[in-house]
Amino acid sequence: MDNKIKNSDKIESRDISRDSICKTAGIDFAKDLSSVKKTAAGSQVKYLKDEDSRLIKDGYITVIAGPCAIESREQLDIIAGIVKESGLSFLRAGAYKPRTSPYSFQGLEHQGLEILQEVADKYGLYTTTEVTDAETVEEIAKYVDILQIGTRNMSNFALLKKVGLVANEYKRKVILKRGWASTIKEWLLAAEYITSRGDSELVLCERGIRTFEPYTRFTLDLSAVPVIKKLSGLSIIIDPSHAVGQSDLVIPMSRAAIAVGADGLIVEIHNEPEKALCDGQQALDINQTKEMLHQVKGIAALMGKKIR
Ligand code: PEP
Ligand code: MN
Repeated sequence: MDNKIKNSDKIESRDISRDSICKTAGIDFAKDLSSVKKTAAGSQVKYLKDEDSRLIKDGYITVIAGPCAIESREQLDIIAGIVKESGLSFLRAGAYKPRTSPYSFQGLEHQGLEILQEVADKYGLYTTTEVTDAETVEEIAKYVDILQIGTRNMSNFALLKKVGLVANEYKRKVILKRGWASTIKEWLLAAEYITSRGDSELVLCERGIRTFEPYTRFTLDLSAVPVIKKLSGLSIIIDPSHAVGQSDLVIPMSRAAIAVGADGLIVEIHNEPEKALCDGQQALDINQTKEMLHQVKGIAALMGKKIR
């Protein structure tokens, strides 16, 4: 009850800025986005005491790293070792892979979840993996800390509702990627499906949108970062890997992401990118991973932040 009173105080002060934003932007966000504000404010109150398990922490840039897909126990063990040695705490790795082609590697599925949990426990890492349909959300929540909703599923409302409920029940965090053809408003409303079903920590992830430019895999919309901060109380991380689709472009875009004010990065890395079963062309190898972290630390320091 006490909490409710505190939260609503926060909401009131946020409502004032929301109204003026709506006027300036000339859009009717006021009604649609009311509880994105409300639940984002609520989560901040709830998770203050539990800072280290939070995905986003004040004064820090959270770098989540790992392979596109879990390929074997050995592969994930090596990569998790690199993540740990680099001083990071969050491991990404796909078990259920929503591939554009049905003939591509679809992931190790349940066996992948078991490997992910075992390896993460060995190194003491938090984990994120993608949930691809409502039926498997609960099964996945038993194995990982963060439920990731991919770009292809941002508008899968049955999945969003289920993730909201399961994340709340299992105390899991959620990463919601932007649909590659979705507007910021659609993305925030998708977030609302989750935040309105509980108070789990929800973080948005910009991963590139489709434009007329074919040279990069997608076009990384870095302006989404200040816009999200202006319109909502939500945190936002950047996925430079899926945005550019080429490993040599990942480091400059990682630097830019930190400079524009993102709260973190999610980056694909691999010990042998040339042998990867999925997205090897965009994965950073061990040396590139070290270089990326070195450069990102420099930009973070300029912003008064540290890497975690
Ligand atoms: C991923 O992170 O593995 C992934 C498939 O990303 P996206 O949904 O952004 O394509
Ligand atoms: Mn990938």
